[in-house]
Amino acid sequence: MKIAIVGTGYVGLVTGTCFAEVGIDVTCIDIDQKKIDNLHQGILPIYEPGLEEMVSRNVEKGRLQFSTNLAEAIQDCDVAFIAVGTPPGEDGSADLKYVLAVARGIGENMKSYGVIVTKSTVPVGTAAKVRAEIEQALAKRGADIEFDVASNPEFLKEGAAIDDFLKPDRIVVGVASERAEEVMRRLYKPFLLNGHPIIFMDIPSAEMTKYAANSMLATKISFMNDVANLCEIMGADVNKVRQGIGSDARIGTKFIYPGIGYGGSCFPKDVKALIKTAQENGYKMQVLQAVESVNEQQKSVLFDKVSRHFGGELRGLKMAVWGLSFKPKTDDMREAPSLVIIEKLLAAGCTVTAYDPVAMPEARHSLGDSIVYAKDEFAALIDADALLVVTEWPDFRAPNFEVVARLMKQKVIFDGRNIYEASELKELGFAYHCIGVRTEH
Ligand code: NAD
Repeated sequence: MKIAIVGTGYVGLVTGTCFAEVGIDVTCIDIDQKKIDNLHQGILPIYEPGLEEMVSRNVEKGRLQFSTNLAEAIQDCDVAFIAVGTPPGEDGSADLKYVLAVARGIGENMKSYGVIVTKSTVPVGTAAKVRAEIEQALAKRGADIEFDVASNPEFLKEGAAIDDFLKPDRIVVGVASERAEEVMRRLYKPFLLNGHPIIFMDIPSAEMTKYAANSMLATKISFMNDVANLCEIMGADVNKVRQGIGSDARIGTKFIYPGIGYGGSCFPKDVKALIKTAQENGYKMQVLQAVESVNEQQKSVLFDKVSRHFGGELRGLKMAVWGLSFKPKTDDMREAPSLVIIEKLLAAGCTVTAYDPVAMPEARHSLGDSIVYAKDEFAALIDADALLVVTEWPDFRAPNFEVVARLMKQKVIFDGRNIYEASELKELGFAYHCIGVRTEH
């Protein structure tokens, strides 16, 4: 089979590379010439564990190509995926201008039957808009070419994207014809061999599934953060409560970790978009509105603890920050809680020295030279008045606390991810604050 992936970002590049890995002929297309030039030289636009090696292997085998030429790539492919961004518009709804521009381009250039698949996260009704856009472009050039649209939302997690794609919990595909179903089943067959299910459904249900999934996950996070804040007030320990509830199979152990709020390119925008879709259709997503407002509040919790600890006198203090990306194993800084925390620290008159194993170049785009970027986690601690753990990279999980203590000016840790043992740090003379546990000052 021959496929085209339009949009070579986190999703497009992983999707294209994984399809190439099982022997499919893939062209990844992007409008960003520099991105494509870099990919031709083996330079990836993103950090994703294992991806660089997999890209170069498949390029060498001739199964994976990169291009800016949509017209050429689209001509004889069986399936074209649209994997461009769908950022939130000013009103919170998903901005479909990139998706529809690609649909137009496909209509202007396709030569024979193909299935056009939206992989981007798009609201219910988008596949119908994609179909209309392609029909219009075909009509304009007087072409009578049959095609199908399909919806195939992506569930990969940054940081574990390859594994998620190669061994998916499930593949969801929305189709409106048997022919499209057959093509999509054939395309995904190599990924289904070990019992990974493919779930076919109508297109609107597939489009909604992605939003419902992300919104459910965001709900778990905000719920747990709400519980954590109450635990702290009441003198309960959220770490114990988490274990207590997680052992109930109906609740499960995943996504119930308290922290500093969800971020990234998906949860914030998808929650907003679903709230907006409901509003536009006369319905109010009350739970999701609360999920969003708890999350906004949660991004300030760590800073508030810092401020309280130092009695509101933060001017001139030196803060060390460990972790900048919105979660470990990615360089994605979109909507990262670190940005909110750092902005507050700087506004309060602190200086900030940060270290992140991979996200510092990306962070520089938003933070510029307002902070100092350290060469490693220990360099960030030199003369620091406090350490804030913002992203739970494995590198930070078990540092040598004696070295930490020696390097810092004041032995104070604010753990936004609850990765340390309060008793151990107390013994070593640290003041330790985490989320959802009342700590002594
Ligand atoms: P991204 O910003 O990393 O990549 C999008 C790419 O599309 C960019 O490289 C951009 O240059 C390119 N592009 C824009 N317009 C184009 C056009 N007309 N022709 C060709 N290329 C074009 O975005 P992403 O994180 O990969 O997300 C893409 C979609 O997938 C979004 O809808 C997102 O919600 C969804 N999604 C993302 C993730 C994730 O973890 N990042 C997971 C699941 C779903």
